[in-house]
Amino acid sequence: MAVVWQCQAVNSTSSAGAVRQGSLRELNLAVVLRRIAAADRPPSRAEIAAGTGLTRATVSAVVDDLIAGRLVAEAEPAPRTGAGRPARGLVLAGDGPAGLGLEVNVDYLAACVVDLTGTVRHHLVRRADLRPVPPADALDRLATLAAEARAAAVRDGLTVAGAALAVPGLVGDGGLVRLAPNLGWRDVDVPALLAGHPLAAPVDGIPPLVVDNEANLAALGELHAGPPGSASFLHITGEIGIGAGIVLDGVLYRGARGWSGEIGHIPVQPQGRPCRCGGRGCLERYAGQEAILAAAGLAGADLPADTAATRLADLAGAGDPAALAALADAGTALGVAVSGVVNLLDLDTVVLGGGYAPLAPWLRPPVVEEISRRVLTAAWSPVTVRPAALGASSAAVGGAASVIRRIVERPVGWLATSSTSGSTARCTTASPC
Ligand SMILES: [Zn+2]
Repeated sequence: MAVVWQCQAVNSTSSAGAVRQGSLRELNLAVVLRRIAAADRPPSRAEIAAGTGLTRATVSAVVDDLIAGRLVAEAEPAPRTGAGRPARGLVLAGDGPAGLGLEVNVDYLAACVVDLTGTVRHHLVRRADLRPVPPADALDRLATLAAEARAAAVRDGLTVAGAALAVPGLVGDGGLVRLAPNLGWRDVDVPALLAGHPLAAPVDGIPPLVVDNEANLAALGELHAGPPGSASFLHITGEIGIGAGIVLDGVLYRGARGWSGEIGHIPVQPQGRPCRCGGRGCLERYAGQEAILAAAGLAGADLPADTAATRLADLAGAGDPAALAALADAGTALGVAVSGVVNLLDLDTVVLGGGYAPLAPWLRPPVVEEISRRVLTAAWSPVTVRPAALGASSAAVGGAASVIRRIVERPVGWLATSSTSGSTARCTTASPC
């Protein structure tokens, strides 16, 4: 799985005289690592020097540091095509730091480990209806799953350098979950409840645990670990609730206070069905999983999220009229809301994620139809509507990817920690970090 890193404009050392030596090294480490991460093929030291404006001696010294810190490795040499030794290309190392992505949702817990190359090394899922479970107990179960994933990473020689937890709700400062309506959580201090469970090795500059909205992390997963594509898109996670992550120019847009993306509560019928939020006619009441199941004649079937989507897809694939009509109506409602977002933000791609991904063959046509009808510019600036590449696992993968992205953006923190703490740098099964 490729990692698509945003490669910032690289500055040369023209202002080096004004920069402290430590800061200059920090800058050069980040510039070279980003260049390697963003390259289409393993670049040589000379190519990095040419592309960054750094001297070859500086690049060689920086690369040596990155290799010693298990952030970069030399690729297999290219076949010899002439006289002299072929230059060794450089790649991200797959045996150094890793990110731990966690997710607590209405009917499952998940933990995944992603290494620096963007490869998902481990992905564990436990099914359970968590609605009647107190938050502390649900988080205890999650910590057990996280420990399993971390132990598997250690067996691979990886060091878990940070964790990110996806929650289907509104997350405030410090990881306080203000409201997760479908879990029944209100003002749950997640970091405090997980404080007794070490999730990651301490690494300078990387928080051991970040709590974020699942739709935000799913969008980051699609951005960093999905296929190359648009840098400005809307990623919609369709479960019992509906959330959206908005990515603008390669950056997640969180809003002024961090509450962006509540597309599920955009009204599509102002005087329509009452919603849990207190409003009426919200999208969630027409295109949320419960609404689709009810319209398809499956109300009360009590199916887990992924099973429900698969069941609906099976019925639709078999031509079941009720399922087809339910998906068509949900897609129309979704298209109405999405059209408003596209009109406002001029996004060129809409990604159907979470439980929507397996239903995309049936949801996509009505969404496209509504966009073509309602988006002013659709005739000459078409909007791509596609399923998420990562499917239902995107939030946990996105959480893990957000950790390793921090390392690529500021490798000096990882290098400083690993050089001062052998146990952190070299976790083993016998001596876990
Ligand atoms: Zn609502």
